[in-house]
Amino acid sequence: MGRIQLENVTKSFGNVEVIPPLNLTIEDGEFAVFVGPSGCGKSTLLRLIAGLEDVTSGTISIDGTEATQVPPAKRGLAMVFQSYALYPHMSVRKNIAFPMKMAGIDEAEQNKRIEAAAKALNLTDYLDRKPGQLSGGQRQRVAIGRAIVREPAAFLFDEPLSNLDAALRVGMRLEISELHERLETTMIYVTHDQVEAMTMADKIVVLRAGVIEQVGSPLELYNSPCNTFVAGFIGSPK
Ligand code: ADP
Ligand code: MG
Repeated sequence: MGRIQLENVTKSFGNVEVIPPLNLTIEDGEFAVFVGPSGCGKSTLLRLIAGLEDVTSGTISIDGTEATQVPPAKRGLAMVFQSYALYPHMSVRKNIAFPMKMAGIDEAEQNKRIEAAAKALNLTDYLDRKPGQLSGGQRQRVAIGRAIVREPAAFLFDEPLSNLDAALRVGMRLEISELHERLETTMIYVTHDQVEAMTMADKIVVLRAGVIEQVGSPLELYNSPCNTFVAGFIGSPK
């Protein structure tokens, strides 16, 4: 579960069309990375998929169901942002439990999922701490933990590592890739970092000014970039 399809999707803010008609399919279980310079529409696309913005026209479907008819909370998607947005007064355990509590999941099941997420993210020893007592990397792991326990059909990451220092970013990149292998869940990962795109993606979607320039595996983009923009972005001469 987790096939995401965009058909003729457009988005305008006022008179400005930031996404001209766009078509894209992300397969179930795929790790798709959206790359492109700042302002090219990466976050907007993610927010459209999540339902945090309405499409101006076109359709988005998730596993064949038209998502545009489904409220954000019911789309089965979990979003992880650059800023962690944790509750400072709650322990790590309570932060992770919060979305499950809201969804009415019973406590035994909550605890089971928390233990599993904490184990996967190396947070077992930190469950009773408050976010203020954690490092940036640990806080971002808690945010990911909070997404995992919802057992989403797909994860949407919007530059989740850009607030972390370089050394931590490398470790977290590996952790997210491992998580993807373990959960086999669709992930869409937005970044402006070529290295993240090349090392993490099954499929890279290169965007410029709301337009998809090229879609392909890291190797395809590296070996046969379709134009100098893609070549420049991926870092290979053409
Ligand atoms: P990226 O995430 O790739 O940096 P965004 O999706 O945030 O790009 O933005 C794409 C374009 O849409 C930019 O020109 C931005 O200024 C514009 N934009 C994004 N959100 C809004 C908004 N709520 N109102 C008006 N313009 C917006
Ligand atoms: Mg953005």
